Amino acid sequence: MIGISRNKDFSKLKNKDIKKIRTAGNRNVVLEDGATTKIPFCSICNNPIQEDQIFLDLFDDEPKQVCSLCYYPRNLDKITFKDSGTLIYAPDLTQSQVNAVALMIYYLRGIENVSQDILELTADVEDLILRRSDSLVNLLCQGANVPSIVCQFLFMLSDDEYSKVGNMFSSVRMFPSEKLAKEVLVYLSTNVLRGYDPKLWVSMLQKIKQMNNE
Ligand SMILES: [Zn+2]
Repeated sequence: MIGISRNKDFSKLKNKDIKKIRTAGNRNVVLEDGATTKIPFCSICNNPIQEDQIFLDLFDDEPKQVCSLCYYPRNLDKITFKDSGTLIYAPDLTQSQVNAVALMIYYLRGIENVSQDILELTADVEDLILRRSDSLVNLLCQGANVPSIVCQFLFMLSDDEYSKVGNMFSSVRMFPSEKLAKEVLVYLSTNVLRGYDPKLWVSMLQKIKQMNNE
């Protein structure tokens, strides 16, 4: 859910607690030489996370390790740069699904000598997503699709108002910008993560476009 880091206090966590959370989120992956190694995974989207990109967030009052793309939409105030993405109306998609679509689009566009067909496909799917950004403005108000404006709005609310605002934003997701997704994408494209190879993403995007056109 879209939100800010307010009322999330990790200061009482001891080092050994953090270590326990981290260990619980680690899983085995097979390396290219056939050996296995343990690496951190995101508790929400189940994607592997680079060591220096691990965040902690609360789920039902329980701290878990998450990736940056799952963390930032739930902690808009922790984004330190402009152009982090756009908020969209997407009651039918989870934040993880929206993140996955963004990663696919940026990955395919980054391939050297990519075909015109693929470029058109990514543009079509991105267009479908951005139309949902316009829908949010139409449904709520001007600025409702801008993460920094929504962040300011959430900070102005009282604790009581903030706890109720969940309903208003329950259908809102964040479509991350290429800048926000960049480090995750670079990591997911490494050879270490053979099982997460993005080569199949073209057919997945075709499916998404097809579903939205039906
Ligand atoms: Zn994640």
